[in-house]
Amino acid sequence: MNAVNRVLFVASEAYPLIKTGGLADVAGTLPEVLRQGGLDVRLLLPAYADLLQRLESPPEVLAELAFDGHAVRILQCVLPGTSLRTWLVAHPLFSERAGNPYHDDGGNPWSDNADRFMLLSRAAAHISTCDTALQWRPDILHCNDWHTGPAIALAHLAQKRPRTVFTIHNLAHMGIFDRGVFDRLGLPGQFWQEQGLEYYGQCSFIKGGLVFADEITTVSPTYAREICESPGGMGLEGLLSQRRDHLLGILNGIDSRTWDPARDPHLVQTYDAGSLQHKSLNKSALQQQLGLQVREDCPLLGFVGRLVEQKGLELILPVIEQLLDSPAQVVILGTGEARYEEALQALAARRPDVLSVVLAYDETLAHRIEAAADIFLMPSLFEPCGLNQLYSLRYGTLPVVRAVGGLADTVVDATDQALDAGTATGFVFALPQPDDLLHATGRAIAAWHDQPVWRAMQLTAMAQDFSWQRSAERYLELYRSTTE
Ligand code: ADP
Repeated sequence: MNAVNRVLFVASEAYPLIKTGGLADVAGTLPEVLRQGGLDVRLLLPAYADLLQRLESPPEVLAELAFDGHAVRILQCVLPGTSLRTWLVAHPLFSERAGNPYHDDGGNPWSDNADRFMLLSRAAAHISTCDTALQWRPDILHCNDWHTGPAIALAHLAQKRPRTVFTIHNLAHMGIFDRGVFDRLGLPGQFWQEQGLEYYGQCSFIKGGLVFADEITTVSPTYAREICESPGGMGLEGLLSQRRDHLLGILNGIDSRTWDPARDPHLVQTYDAGSLQHKSLNKSALQQQLGLQVREDCPLLGFVGRLVEQKGLELILPVIEQLLDSPAQVVILGTGEARYEEALQALAARRPDVLSVVLAYDETLAHRIEAAADIFLMPSLFEPCGLNQLYSLRYGTLPVVRAVGGLADTVVDATDQALDAGTATGFVFALPQPDDLLHATGRAIAAWHDQPVWRAMQLTAMAQDFSWQRSAERYLELYRSTTE
C-alpha cells in the first residue's frame, strides 16, 4: 500500500459547470466524494467561456504558469454544490469561444481541438511534475478520456512524476489527428510509435493514457472485457489486452443528491419506495405538459439521451409505431444527428397524442421523464457504463436494455428464475435487432399490466445501491495499490 494524499483529477467537463454527457457527471461527483473521504483533491478543467459565466462569483487568480512556450493562468473556484477546490486553465483558446466545448452548432469539431486539449494536457503534466507557484504536486494524476491522454504521456517523461491513472469513459472518442498536427504541436518524436501516440498512421490522444498510465480503468467490468476484443476495442484491442493486468472496470455511481425521487426539486410530486403510488402524478403531469393524452391505462415509455447510433436509434425507429400501437405512449428527449432528429419529429407530427419528441438538452425534463415514465428504453449498441438506466432504477422506472457494457452489469433480466428470487430489475435482450428490442419491450409491457409483479420489481430496482461511496472506495484502493 502506498500513501495517497493529493490527487489531481483532470477532465474536459464537470457537472454543474459544463456538461455534455456522462463524463461530466463523474467528474462532478467522484472527486468530491474522494475529498470527503479525506483526500486532498483538485479538479482541473478548461476555463471555457460558458463555464466562466456559470460561476457564482469571480474566480480567484491563483498562479500564472509558463511551460513549453505557453502561458496560462490558473483560476480557482469551488465546484458549485460541493467544497471541492477546482482549478481552471485560463487561456484565450478556451475563454474566447462560447458554446459546446467540442464542436460548433453544426456538430463539426472545433478546428483547434488538438491545440486546446494539448494545452489542458500540458498544464496538467506541468502541475504534476514541476515545482510551480501553486506549491502543490499530486501523488496521483488521474486523467479522463482522450482530451487528457497526452498529460499522462508527458508526465511519464519527467524525472519525478506522480503515479498515473487513466479512465476510459468512452473508447469511441480517441482524439485522432493527422501527422501534421502531431508535428505542429511539438510533441516529442519518441511518441510517434505504436507504443506511443501513433494510431494506424495518425496521432491518437487517448493512446497517451492507454500506453503510459500506470493503471487504466473503465466504467464497468463488462466494458473492460469488451474493449479487449474486437469490435469493442475499435482497433485498440491488441494494446488493451496487453495491458489487461492493469485494466480494471469500476462501475460509475450516481449523484444521489441530484437523482433522488424523494427530494428531486424538478418533480411535480416526489415519492419513494414507501409512497410509490405518488409516482403516477408525475406521469399525468408530464402527459399534460407534453400534450399527450392523459391516461393511466397504457404504459409511458421514456428515452433520454444523445440521438446517435450508439444509443440504439436504429433499433428504436423501425419498431416505434408497433410500440405505440401496443398501445403505449413514448416520450423522447435528446439532441443529436439530424437524420434521427428529423425522423422522430416527422413521426411525432403524425402521432402527437401518443408520441412526444423534445429536441433539446433539458435537465428538468430529463428528471421529469425519469419520474413519469413506467418503462425506460436504453437499447444501446455499446454502453461503457450508462447513467440513465441507473437513474431509472432509482426512480422505479424499469429499464429495457441491451446486454452490453454497464447495462449488462446493472440490470437483472426478469427471467422466471430472477422473478422467483426477487432479483429482477428490468428487461434485457442480446442481439442488436429491432425485433429483439420489440420483444423485450413487449415483455416489459406485459409485466406492467401485472401490477403485483411490477410493484415487486420496482421495489427491487429502487433498493439497488449505486452510490458513489462504493465506487470511490474502489478508486481509493486502486490509488493505494498503484506503483510506478
Ligand atoms: P453518454 O455519456 O454516453 O451521453 P450516459 O447515460 O452515461 O450517456 O449519460 C448521459 C447523461 O446526459 C445523463 O445524465 C443524461 O440524463 C444526460 N442527458 C443526455 N441527453 C440529455 C438531454 N437531451 N437533456 C437532458 N439530459 C440529457
